[in-house]
Amino acid sequence: MSNVIQLLPDHVANQIAAGEVVQRPASVIKELLENSIDAKASRIQVIIKDAGKTLVQVVDDGVGMSITDSRMCFERHATSKIKLADDLFSLKTKGFRGEALASIAAIAHVELKTRSEEDEVGTCIKVEGSKVVSQDPCVTPKGTSICVKNLFYNIPARRNFLKSDNVETRHIIDEFQRVALAHPDINFSLTHNGSELFQLPATNVRQRITNIFGGKTNEKLVPVEEDTEIVKISGFVGKPEFAKKSRGEQFFFVNDRYIKSPYLNHAVVASFEGLLKEKSYPSYFLYLEVDPKSIDINIHPTKTEIKFDDEHALYAILKSAIKHSLGQFNVAPMLDFERDSELDTPYDYQNKAASAPQIEVDRNFNPFQNEGSSKPQFSGGNGFRREKPAQWESLYSGMQQETETEVDVKQIEFESEEVTGNLFGGREDEAEKSTFQLHKKYIVSTLKSGILVIDQHRAHTRVLYEELLKNITVSAAVSQQLLFPLRLQFNNHEVEMLKELKESLEQTGFIFSQIDKDEVEITGIPTLIPESEVQILLEQLLADFEKDVPHDGFSQTDLLAKSLAKSMAVRSGTLLNSTEQQHIVNRLFACKEPALNPFNKTVFITLSVDELDKKFA
Ligand code: ADP
Ligand code: MG
Repeated sequence: MSNVIQLLPDHVANQIAAGEVVQRPASVIKELLENSIDAKASRIQVIIKDAGKTLVQVVDDGVGMSITDSRMCFERHATSKIKLADDLFSLKTKGFRGEALASIAAIAHVELKTRSEEDEVGTCIKVEGSKVVSQDPCVTPKGTSICVKNLFYNIPARRNFLKSDNVETRHIIDEFQRVALAHPDINFSLTHNGSELFQLPATNVRQRITNIFGGKTNEKLVPVEEDTEIVKISGFVGKPEFAKKSRGEQFFFVNDRYIKSPYLNHAVVASFEGLLKEKSYPSYFLYLEVDPKSIDINIHPTKTEIKFDDEHALYAILKSAIKHSLGQFNVAPMLDFERDSELDTPYDYQNKAASAPQIEVDRNFNPFQNEGSSKPQFSGGNGFRREKPAQWESLYSGMQQETETEVDVKQIEFESEEVTGNLFGGREDEAEKSTFQLHKKYIVSTLKSGILVIDQHRAHTRVLYEELLKNITVSAAVSQQLLFPLRLQFNNHEVEMLKELKESLEQTGFIFSQIDKDEVEITGIPTLIPESEVQILLEQLLADFEKDVPHDGFSQTDLLAKSLAKSMAVRSGTLLNSTEQQHIVNRLFACKEPALNPFNKTVFITLSVDELDKKFA
């Protein structure tokens, strides 16, 4: 057989390698930024057009390159950063593979201008699809400027795979922020289509965080410091009361490199134990310094995971350092947002011996008997009952067509008969209309033919979802005008998303009077939403849209309604009195699709008398 194996031509090999390094414009930015940092730049400008699809340019004032190097840098495995295999174990630079520029040049039009301090004249080189098309001397300031144009021009499939400009811009902002946070002592700027998104002067960590995430961030930060033989930790965690509904602001840096670590994240979350509301995420900006020998940096170029030698020790140190900070800064004791003050031990009692609890029994209590207008029996007659109506009820204020402030039980029953007549059968038996709550999670109701078990959260989500959709699509959105405009802080990335969603949000009743870089002013909100919940609902919403924002209006509206309904709905674990329970049941069965929540999960199950009979057979 004749020989068939050949070496791939360089430009083909480079294109294949490019697939590894460059997924999207943001990857180009990351590589170029890292090169500029390795070149000891003190000022780095990033300029992009059309989310980097048309142009990515990075200009630095670093050491620059000689004529020969400026040609060499586009070769694969050409690097100035390591010489020996051993160097890999004491890396101080970001790059070391010598692959990035070769890869980028294989799939774009690249123009490099560079000059080192010693040279009087710089070099300008143009490369297209790995081929050098020109090389000339040029006048250029000390440092390096690299323009990457028409990314993936020769791989249409990859180009088509790119997401909308907004999504790609968000990826770029993410990469940019990670690098900028890791190097507060460098001046960075980011300009998109002529408008400046970030201008970050050289400063300290705290100020850098504030410059990126907005002025109000400063007061939310608690410093963390720890110095041990294994690791030196510095940075900040966000105060628990400012924990976010999305994971947005969580950053680990190891030796000035952004990394992801679910394991260390766990340590942080564990140190916040008991201080966070359910489903909220603490912000953190933590800088770890470890001996380069103790980590395996030989990771995939696009991966941000890292392997530590002594993970368990790191975990423990990190957790205790944060706990200590939270305690020291007096954050811990004042944190209990949801504590019922009635449960606090009154001061007088603190030193008294505990007496044996007395049990009170209501001897007249009969679970099978409904006493009509008397107090509902299943809402806990144990002294813990809330005096105020559950908060979700206030969500209905303003929905005149369906709600009276005082919910009239009789009237609801009447409605329910109309709508759910078939399901509930006749009403000869009084017990049939009663409901009770199981485990603060399920509403149980009797049917003519058996029993009905309803998941309270899912049911309420379905109800709110349909109401929101109706509000948005059928009736023109009703807004409650706010007496004082709400000014809410969001980070840059969130503001970008809000801008995209603005139109749909306005259909639900939001009125945005101003959207700035890191602040949004709201003068009207949907009638269904209490003012105090707006920030949290919007954060949750943005977290839901995090992955991608659908383009067409309908799916946007739909996702919006789903997300709002989900966060507004009464949670499992919430005690409901019987009026509240029946309210949900009645509204549920007035829905178009009561059986499923908007996420296609079962809302209720039934158990017929026949089935019960079988179990007792
Ligand atoms: P690596 O960073 O892994 O060495 P790259 O392909 O990113 O590989 O870069 C190749 C080489 O080009 C670098 O090792 C460095 O010597 C040089 N280089 C790249 N960018 C710059 C820059 N902005 N300033 C000075 N030298 C640079
Ligand atoms: Mg590099």
